[in-house]
Amino acid sequence: MLAIRYNNRTFFGLKTVVNMPITSQTAKILDGLEVSAAVLTSVHEAIEAHVQAGGQRPGLAVVLVGKDPASSIYVRAKRKDCERAGIQARDFDLPAETSQAELLALIDKLNHDDNIHGVLVQLPLPDHIDEVAITNAISASKDVDGFHAFSVGRLALRQPGLRPCTPRGIMTLLNYYGVSAMARHCVVVGASNIVGRPMGLELLHQGATVTTCHRFTRDLEFYVRHAEILVIAVGKRGIVDADWIREGTVVVDVGINRLDNGKLVGDIDFARAAEKAAWISPVPGGVGPMTRATLMQNTAEAAGIQVPEPKQA
Ligand code: NAD
Repeated sequence: MLAIRYNNRTFFGLKTVVNMPITSQTAKILDGLEVSAAVLTSVHEAIEAHVQAGGQRPGLAVVLVGKDPASSIYVRAKRKDCERAGIQARDFDLPAETSQAELLALIDKLNHDDNIHGVLVQLPLPDHIDEVAITNAISASKDVDGFHAFSVGRLALRQPGLRPCTPRGIMTLLNYYGVSAMARHCVVVGASNIVGRPMGLELLHQGATVTTCHRFTRDLEFYVRHAEILVIAVGKRGIVDADWIREGTVVVDVGINRLDNGKLVGDIDFARAAEKAAWISPVPGGVGPMTRATLMQNTAEAAGIQVPEPKQA
């Protein structure tokens, strides 16, 4: 088993190297645990200063429909993040049979509630509810997930408002370590509405040349080999072969996959990619915590509180 030590943590790869416990890793780690903690501290400080000055504490409505186990875990984590950030979480746990009309009525109520600054509806929703209708029913000014058509449209037009959390979190992570996308060739693998597409817009906004690859892309290897910054967001282990990474590439792995032994891994073989990459984000401990911290940052901003972005000391 290949092992990499970083910041007193050990990252294990899948490659077995007999009698060779430590790799020739060249990559530095894009450490989502460190940077998300810095973001949460920054959010907390900004909120407390705002409240001390007589401002209102931000409120986040967290809506969960049904009892999907993964969603329940995510929602619990988000509620915990609220405590850490100084945000008032209001919980709405609804039964799986809640109708679309009932959910829309709740969203309408929350849109008009002055104590609520952000509305989060945990996805996926049960099949009988139209996710697009729900996402677009949330007031754009409370759209802290950044999924509303208006929010993504603003990003596309270089007038960013509330930005989708995962791509924004990735930009914060890169900026923290001084990794700029300006004038670089960035390849995004995956084109979903919540990750791949807005990711491309974020990178374009920073002055990158962006290639987006997706399920219909022919010769994915060709594009990966030409990437200076590579963001992989597919959810298929091994979709990008680590051998395709060129020396010095920045690798951001968004994918989450569970191995048969229960271990969480990303879309790329971390240890092998780390032998060539200049920077790489681990899974877990990379993009995931950045997404969560960014949700808190967006909620503070939806309440009119500016949060300074942390930079490495
Ligand atoms: P999705 O299923 O909506 O989209 C996957 C994308 O991959 C699609 O655009 C599809 O075209 C593309 N794709 C599929 N096969 C491909 C192929 N052979 N070659 C190139 N592209 C291909 O998924 P999503 O919601 O964007 O999530 C992607 C992954 O990221 C999942 O593993 C998800 O769990 C993870 N994720 C992580 C976070 C986080 O915070 N860490 C947040 C969101 C998603």
